[in-house]
Amino acid sequence: MTATPTTPSTEFERTHCGRCGGSGSYSYCQMHGSTCFGCAGTGKKLTKRGAAAYAWFKEQRTVRADQVVAGNRIHSGGAKFTVTEISEPHVGAYVGAERQPVMYVTFANADGKFRYSTMLDSKVEVLPRTEADRVAALRAAFAYQDTLGKMGQPLKNKAKVSAD
Ligand SMILES: [Zn+2]
Repeated sequence: MTATPTTPSTEFERTHCGRCGGSGSYSYCQMHGSTCFGCAGTGKKLTKRGAAAYAWFKEQRTVRADQVVAGNRIHSGGAKFTVTEISEPHVGAYVGAERQPVMYVTFANADGKFRYSTMLDSKVEVLPRTEADRVAALRAAFAYQDTLGKMGQPLKNKAKVSAD
């Protein structure tokens, strides 16, 4: 029997939202209704330390587009999907005066099969494959958070950034 990994009880450090005083509501406006957009209605927002750790967490799962492989679940353009195919790089769009190499990323979802063209060095967020991977990544990020000062600055050189 394998134990199911549980999400660490720590979280990215948050504090009461100063805009709404922690209530999550703010005076009504056309665009957001009465939901406070400082905290999206949660009443809490990341502290500087929490935001720095969260940015680091995102950075850890971000790779260049040409490092993505079929089977990766990625987060791109506000959507999450599974990559089914990666093309070889080929000469593509003009950027300034020169043509730049691009590649196609193919994915499938309920609406069918799609592909988009991307620069090789575009940033892509690769989602963890398993729950255990997700939990391990969170633990690493919380450990990193512990090495940061109140303003989100590293306190020690111990916070070594490693890709794996
Ligand atoms: Zn708020």
